[in-house]
Amino acid sequence: MAVLLNLDPGTLLVVEAFVLFMLGCLTCLAAFQGQRDRPLLWTAAGMWMACLGFLLGVVRTRPGLFAFSIVLANFLLITSHACLWVSLRVFRGRPAPWRWLGLGGLVWLALCQWPFFLAEPQWRVVAYSALSLGYLVAGLLAIWPEWRRDPVTVTPVLVFLGEHAVFYFWRALPIPLKGALWQSWPDFSLVMVEGLFFSICLAFGILMLVRARAEQKYRHAALHDTLTSLPNRRALFEQGAALLEQTHQEGGEVSLLMCDLDWFKQVNDRHGHEAGDRVLVRFAQVLLQTAREGDLCARLGGEEFVVVTANLGPLGAQDLAARIRYRLAGQAARFPCPLTVSVGVSCSRDVGYDLDRLLARADQALYAAKTAGRDCVRIWSQGGPEPDPSSTPVSRSRLGRFPEHPVDA
Ligand code: GH3
Ligand code: MG
Ligand code: MG
Repeated sequence: MAVLLNLDPGTLLVVEAFVLFMLGCLTCLAAFQGQRDRPLLWTAAGMWMACLGFLLGVVRTRPGLFAFSIVLANFLLITSHACLWVSLRVFRGRPAPWRWLGLGGLVWLALCQWPFFLAEPQWRVVAYSALSLGYLVAGLLAIWPEWRRDPVTVTPVLVFLGEHAVFYFWRALPIPLKGALWQSWPDFSLVMVEGLFFSICLAFGILMLVRARAEQKYRHAALHDTLTSLPNRRALFEQGAALLEQTHQEGGEVSLLMCDLDWFKQVNDRHGHEAGDRVLVRFAQVLLQTAREGDLCARLGGEEFVVVTANLGPLGAQDLAARIRYRLAGQAARFPCPLTVSVGVSCSRDVGYDLDRLLARADQALYAAKTAGRDCVRIWSQGGPEPDPSSTPVSRSRLGRFPEHPVDA
């Protein structure tokens, strides 16, 4: 740090420009490695713009180039802060605000038309810092809501932006408030070194944000069924095992319901594959609407779905299965043809807390439901799958008479 502070201003400007150029290349390459991540492209644009600004700063001592260098370099540096703000906005799925992007720079250019302003370094520092600070605060506000969702990744970005904003806040204070300190602190070297650390840290912070988001997206895709958006088979084994273990430790019971739509192939054959897909999506909604909070509803594959429900014994599971059948029947108007479901149930009381065993037993019970004529529920027990006494075919039952809430066993 001390070595950097002792470098002469020209060398510092070149070092900073080089680092910013490399950071721009890094974030741009990272953007194209992913799916042309727009936040990273905006970060790269900001880095390159700042790089150009610092290179222009190098020529400010050349005769006749001072005003040109000061005006354009600061215009680019203010706009580079605007690009960082846009990057964070775009990260949150907001559109790029083109009008506001150039506003800070234009205000700066307008101020530079005033000879008094151009001749007064302290007022230039105040104006440049205030305009950059505006974009930094906007950046903080843009990313702040994301903190709740992913505090680990967002905190570093908030800290880097916050530190830079506080630094610029001091620089933006009007001279009378700063008193004699205005000239001695922060000096040029400190401003440059702080800018260098801020650029490096923020570029890596934004890279981390984008990578974490991509990882969440891929993880979600790996664990969810693309058609119904329900957890898929892989998620069932991951989350189901965790639910079983937790409930076992708490001394609760677990029931597993395996639901298979009856004669579903005929829906495809008669009404087309797309109609079949819509039926599957609606049935997934029926499951979600019927299951309790904390139950795990998953698509096992094809037209087979599973509900793993904690703290529900055979009676409660039977009740839940019946409510699924009745809700499906109640939505008959939304389906292209009458639709029923067969359900096989297994409970930890009879089978234990092993997910594979629960699935295998529920599958046997489901097979029994199919051979019993479909549109019914069977519960696995030691003596073989048992019929659910309330499991009369939905088509022959009186809808609306069924209990609305499951009976906990
Ligand atoms: P059962 O009453 O014995 O369960 O008969 P079924 O016709 O429902 O069962 P079967 O196993 O004979 O047919 C299942 C059909 O589900 C066959 C397959 O084309 C269809 N299917 C599987 N996955 C999808 C999907 O994602 N979309 C659509 N539309 N159909 C699917
Ligand atoms: Mg079926
Ligand atoms: Mg099937």
